[in-house]
Amino acid sequence: MTRPFCRRCLLEDMPSQAELARSVRELVDLLPEENRTPEEERLRRLALCRSCDHLLDGMCALCGCYVELRAAKKRMACPDVPGRWG
Ligand code: SF4
Repeated sequence: MTRPFCRRCLLEDMPSQAELARSVRELVDLLPEENRTPEEERLRRLALCRSCDHLLDGMCALCGCYVELRAAKKRMACPDVPGRWG
């Protein structure tokens, strides 16, 4: 069964973007440990992105970043005003 089209999805939620999701995961894995967001905080950030109107096909419409990469970088912040995380 195919999932319905969802604008508010992360790359990892979209089977059609599996290759891109894998590339983003590889970039996250390459981040030095000291620059990586702790897992609990990373998941909290992504949950906020998932419920955000600016999320479009895994990308933040405000900054153009793939949110799975942005959320994984410790020093990054949500570009919304006010920011939703970071
Ligand atoms: S505005 Fe913030 S919460 Fe919304 S998608 Fe972009 S980074 Fe995520």
